[in-house]
Amino acid sequence: MPRPAIVTIHLPAIRHNYAIAQSKVQSKVWAVIKANGYGHGIEAVFKALPHADGFALVEVDNAVQLRALGWCGPILLLQGFFDRMDLSVIIKHNIEVVVHSDWQIELLKHWYDNEARLETHHPIRIHLKVNTGMNRLGFSPDKVAQAYQALLALKKVEIVTLTAHFANADQAQIDALEVSVLDQLRQFESAHGAIKQKTGVSLSNSAAILLHGAIQNDWARAGIMLYGGTPSNSASIDVYLQPAMTLSSEIIAVQTLQKGDKVGYGSRFMAEEAMQIGVVACGYADGYPRHAIDGTPILVEGVRTRMVGRVSMDLITVDITHIPNAQIGSPVVMWGKGLPIDEVASYADTIGYELMCGVTKRVRVLLEEA
Ligand SMILES: *Cc1c(COP(=O)(O)O)cnc(C)c1O
Repeated sequence: MPRPAIVTIHLPAIRHNYAIAQSKVQSKVWAVIKANGYGHGIEAVFKALPHADGFALVEVDNAVQLRALGWCGPILLLQGFFDRMDLSVIIKHNIEVVVHSDWQIELLKHWYDNEARLETHHPIRIHLKVNTGMNRLGFSPDKVAQAYQALLALKKVEIVTLTAHFANADQAQIDALEVSVLDQLRQFESAHGAIKQKTGVSLSNSAAILLHGAIQNDWARAGIMLYGGTPSNSASIDVYLQPAMTLSSEIIAVQTLQKGDKVGYGSRFMAEEAMQIGVVACGYADGYPRHAIDGTPILVEGVRTRMVGRVSMDLITVDITHIPNAQIGSPVVMWGKGLPIDEVASYADTIGYELMCGVTKRVRVLLEEA
């Protein structure tokens, strides 16, 4: 019998969540599928969204994989190309790119001068990134016009959007020290105003789509919301997103404890009274967070209970004292349907994004198609 740890990907949920993104912004929506579709699998997300407006990611090889799966529509590399070799792949597969730094423009220039066979390829579609205060990628607003001109001077490019990324779109209230959405919009507008030609605009991530619907986009970028996660554990977002991933397993052993008995490595948990412990075939080598504390919620037989004791590589231990029908073979849900991933994440001092991305290869994948 195979190990019972299974990750179920709910394709209708992804479809539902994408439709919510589209209904929130009156624009096209990139379905963001970096990090293997936030751990859901590129193929699964593509299967769920065969009519998406476009897919955005950061890994060139997965972009090529998406073409091989039969996707002919727009693909965007959110960080553009990483080296010269990527450029021929991008041309060959008609992939759009973000340009965020001078070195990328230099590389393009060099490539056009030396390697491009201009007659044989279509224009490279470029999304020019503005650094509006997050200070990771992008040109500062006063450098954008210059970068824009340098790109236009290349032959066969098309500048599709001016784009930027929010640092705090998930915050309902902004601390005076934080960079607000409004600050960033002001920076963006100064960059946009400085270029003469009209380009499209791509600003909103999931948080902005859900909480700042008035922001205008030609292309919004929906990541976490596609998967039914919320952009931050603190955001109260009530838009009926559906979880796209359920991590489940089974109880494979039961222990009866007396008051004072300890559980697992380091004996972190001690029974305060007689209790029943279910031992579940799922551990940190499956992607369950090792930092989860005693009391982290978990479902056994659909009943909410608590994980207790240190998480080990292959096993976790759960309190089943008050679930009389819990036994060997009982289904256990670590997160997903019936237990929001964000809630589990908060008990492990992390975010749903990290849990989704962290499910490991040894966990069997089940696609739920309808
Ligand atoms: C990952 C990413 C997104 C999606 O962010 P979510 O918070 O998951 O919606 C959007 N834009 C860029 C540039 C990204 O890298």
